[in-house]
Amino acid sequence: MPELRKDPVTDRWVIIATERARRPGDFARESLPEKPSGRYCPFCPGHESKTPPEVLACREGSARNQPGWSLRVVPNKFPVLEIEGDLERQGDGLFDRMQGIGAHEVVIESPDHALSITELSDHSIERVLWAFRDRVLDLKNDRRLRYVLIFKNQGEAAGATLEHTHSQLIALPVVPKRVQEEIESAERYYDFKERCVFCDLIRQEIKGGARVVTETDHFVVIAPYASRFPFETWILPRKHGSHYEDADGVQLKNLAWILKSTLKKLEKVLERPPYNLIVHTGPLQEAANNFYHWHIEIIPKLTRVAGFEWGTGFYINPTPPEEAAKFLREAGLA
Ligand code: ZN
Ligand code: ZN
Repeated sequence: MPELRKDPVTDRWVIIATERARRPGDFARESLPEKPSGRYCPFCPGHESKTPPEVLACREGSARNQPGWSLRVVPNKFPVLEIEGDLERQGDGLFDRMQGIGAHEVVIESPDHALSITELSDHSIERVLWAFRDRVLDLKNDRRLRYVLIFKNQGEAAGATLEHTHSQLIALPVVPKRVQEEIESAERYYDFKERCVFCDLIRQEIKGGARVVTETDHFVVIAPYASRFPFETWILPRKHGSHYEDADGVQLKNLAWILKSTLKKLEKVLERPPYNLIVHTGPLQEAANNFYHWHIEIIPKLTRVAGFEWGTGFYINPTPPEEAAKFLREAGLA
């Protein structure tokens, strides 16, 4: 019997279509290639002039925009939003508009032309997580900017255009609707119960265990109860915090490990699937709060969003999260 499930955070319904339950091998997907294509790569060392000048880099002694770095953050060469200018908010009758102000940056995670972040050392991944934090803290100083979305597209089918492992940040002059809805739902729950919905969720999932993939002292990885997509995976910090940038060194070190281990499990079980990874965090200009809880969501790209999803906002998920969690737990990796 198919099951309708409601996400406790967003109140979003999904259909868990158990009748046609699908196992990892049942999905047609574009696996990440095993070897680099050999195409010219603007992110490789020696090609620094092919990207806009860096806004952040980890180097020991070498000059800016030259080789000798271990991580670089550069503006996107084809930005969706631009940093220079004024917002010029305007209304034209019932239509609102403003200038496309914002920042669009690329985090080149390693000088190695690795195809996946899982090929990097834990230390390199930790450096990426620090770079996210540093960039958010810097962008926060720009009062025009209200939200920074940190994300990673892995594989062409998930939107990546370059294979060299990288992630992106887009800073926006508004808080996106989907983010706002999640935050408002969490706030309503808090107003009612005086507890954070995510903290409650973590407690309940750990107690139940069926949807838990991994736990450490600092994080828990789950297949969420109302997963929209097969093998949707969330990484939640155990310690309450509304903003990613407030995470401390101990958390980021542990996050580097658990992120790599989780992605390796997904890569093993789903044969290097394309995926999107998104950091869910509080708005830039808002103070830390008790009701929102930052976390990471990983969505493997295994199914297509079609008419029913567009029309209803429901998702049809053919893999129950309990089964997804079991496959990931049994992947035979730490
Ligand atoms: Zn490269
Ligand atoms: Zn919490």
